[in-house]
Amino acid sequence: MPTTGVATTKSSVLSTINPDGSRKWIKPRPSKGQFWRYRRAVASILIAFFTLIPYIKMNGRPIVQLDISHRVFALFGSVFYPTDTVILALFVVSIFLGIFLVTALAGRAWCGWACPQTVYMELLYRPVERLFEGVPGKKSKKGGWRRPAKYLTYLMLSAFLAHTFIAYFVGVEELRIWVTRSPFQHPTSFLVMAGVTTMMMFDFCYFREQTCLVACPYGRMQSVLLDRNSLIVSYDPTRGEPRGKKRRKAKKGTGDVSLRVIEGTPPTTSPCTATEPPTEDAQGDCIDCLMCVTTCPTGIDIRNGLQMECIHCTQCIDACDSVMEKIGKPRGLIRYSSQAAMEHGKRTLLRPRVIIYPLILSVLLAALVVVFATKDPAEVTILRARGTLPYFRVTENEIDRIGTRVKVRVRNRTDKPVAYTFTLADVPGGGISLGTDTLLVEPFGLETAEAILLVPPIEYGPRGHRTITIQTTGSDGFDSEVTYDLVGPAWIEKPSGG
Ligand code: SF4
Ligand code: SF4
Repeated sequence: MPTTGVATTKSSVLSTINPDGSRKWIKPRPSKGQFWRYRRAVASILIAFFTLIPYIKMNGRPIVQLDISHRVFALFGSVFYPTDTVILALFVVSIFLGIFLVTALAGRAWCGWACPQTVYMELLYRPVERLFEGVPGKKSKKGGWRRPAKYLTYLMLSAFLAHTFIAYFVGVEELRIWVTRSPFQHPTSFLVMAGVTTMMMFDFCYFREQTCLVACPYGRMQSVLLDRNSLIVSYDPTRGEPRGKKRRKAKKGTGDVSLRVIEGTPPTTSPCTATEPPTEDAQGDCIDCLMCVTTCPTGIDIRNGLQMECIHCTQCIDACDSVMEKIGKPRGLIRYSSQAAMEHGKRTLLRPRVIIYPLILSVLLAALVVVFATKDPAEVTILRARGTLPYFRVTENEIDRIGTRVKVRVRNRTDKPVAYTFTLADVPGGGISLGTDTLLVEPFGLETAEAILLVPPIEYGPRGHRTITIQTTGSDGFDSEVTYDLVGPAWIEKPSGG
């Protein structure tokens, strides 16, 4: 279970499972030190940011929107479609590489400081739990109404989060319609909302830390993403060991007496507690008070070394720092460090992956900018019409032409309405009939129109093939050409001399 470790890993049981296989419910005791204050400030900004993103607009679109039903994705005022495969591929690979780089430098900073799962769980749901049931390790609050009130608050929070989450997909305007209409008028969207609220309840009320331990792949990848110089939360065994209860000086006529320094510490035994208590002189700084364990939201003992379950939330740092202050020792027995620094006292910042990742990332981002900047403001596609005769003879003013039904699809990628016109660029005597002079497409809209391509029989090749070029011009100055392979009749009798 645990991966690499600065100290020897001893635990062989998952931190959230009892020896009999049942779930061990983690109720961490909060440690309100300096890192807690920083995290709370960061989390408050992030919660506000996560909530407001769907409302912030750029070029008439939310700064982030994943409109799956219309297959449109908006990001900082630009709109992407599933057909933008190169842009999307570059974007996704850049994100992954960015994660690799951040992890190599700062460990699981994302998990502990910015992941919505941690932010909402530790800064919203757990404080609500403590509000109604009391702080673990202190006198618990009891009362029949507390539990229902807690779950009612959870339900309201989950419903709020579900609305925020769905706004990223449907947009706030659509969400407003969902909220203001009766569920009977739009039962599907009501069921979607109820389902997402239930998922939030399941995640934050029941599944909790299991999301990080079982469902999220990132923790499992850390052993390859981290190296010995990555920043991690670690316990200093050279300073802390051998651990043991702090002892009072023996009074005359009495033996040594163990002193529990921290009031309310559960009298449990650490998995790593030494069997023989060390003497006062040989004792390290760790007094084995288990405050770092009882505060851990994933239930692990950081003294066992770097573990997959550690989300680098820094709670154990705050817990141990307050213990060190109380016993008059320097802070930092548990601290941000690296495996290399813990072993040799030195952390190397520049190493191959820290140089290679940014280089590749720069190339990818440059390619992304170039592809993005050279992107056409419209996308024109010619599609074969289905369910009709592929071609037919059209006679106008005694001139014969072969008509072919097609569909013209135009995606306007700009934030203004654009009128498009179409011409056959390289077919003498040919034409394109749309029924209207122009095709008007709304901002970021997609329109499809039926059209008939008219090509004189003489233009077809001996086997009835002809590649034509359709020129599209837009009222915004857009100009592009697309080619299309016509399959006409091979039996056409060409005029003599043709
Ligand atoms: S909080 Fe510090 S002193 Fe207490 S058990 Fe953990 S490492 Fe040891
Ligand atoms: S070991 Fe420390 S940093 Fe890691 S999850 Fe537990 S409390 Fe957070």
